[in-house]
Amino acid sequence: MNDYLVKAYAFDGTVRIYAAKTTDLVEEARCIHDTWPAATAAFGKVLTGSIIMGAMYKGDQNLTLRIDGGGPIGGIVVTTNANGEVRGYVSQPHVHISTNDNKLADAYAVGNDGFIHVTKDLNVRNIFTSSSEIRTGDFAEDLTYYFTMSEQIPSAVGLGVLVDELNQAKAAGGFILQVMPGAKSETLDKIEANIHAMRPISELIAKEYTPEMIINEITKGDHQLVETMRLKYACDCHRERFASGLVALGKQELTNLINEKIPVETVCHFCNKKYVFTQDDLQNLLKNSK
Ligand code: ZN
Repeated sequence: MNDYLVKAYAFDGTVRIYAAKTTDLVEEARCIHDTWPAATAAFGKVLTGSIIMGAMYKGDQNLTLRIDGGGPIGGIVVTTNANGEVRGYVSQPHVHISTNDNKLADAYAVGNDGFIHVTKDLNVRNIFTSSSEIRTGDFAEDLTYYFTMSEQIPSAVGLGVLVDELNQAKAAGGFILQVMPGAKSETLDKIEANIHAMRPISELIAKEYTPEMIINEITKGDHQLVETMRLKYACDCHRERFASGLVALGKQELTNLINEKIPVETVCHFCNKKYVFTQDDLQNLLKNSK
């Protein structure tokens, strides 16, 4: 696994920038979910944007993003935490759209009629959900809009996924930049000009630009690196969770399943791992259910 994220402060600490390379985890997600190119690009951008967002939180806090723009891909759900782990799924992985401008295929896949919902579990006994409209279906633009509207933080987001001729994720990565109060207007002008002059993120990563080099493109050297973090696709599902799901069906439904005399197979949405419950397993669940 070569994916990692770098945190930096720039321009006298008035701007924070998080940049990441996510090629391996996006390719792993593609293999798990068998996404087709437009879906790989859309899903990869959401995985990348979310994992960078997750890195802004602490300890065991985690985030769930739900994106549903009414497009052919259906819903995208991604869960991430502050330790560089992400997992997710899409409703319709078999979406491929050919456009004249290939970069926008993912925006068509997502659609532009719906919402981004961000649920934050900050481990303070409260769960917060905030939402914003999907404007274009391009997750970089829609996430920028989310930060501005829902969190009132002026931000810039760049995300890119390059799918090669074998339909594999060849390059993926991105950055999120946030402006703190007190930033000078000439700083903002400089950032805008530098970002405008940059090549697309997917192209930079394909040319082996590192997250540090991407930050350097944005600041032209006026920054301090703060932290580096490994990133990976990780699922924390376990058998007990699926067992409680079966118990929650109730005694009658469990009895029906036992009478069908075929093992029950449950599948994790996030990693496709299968958990099989035999008739004996189901009998035990029934015995232990109240
Ligand atoms: Zn799983």
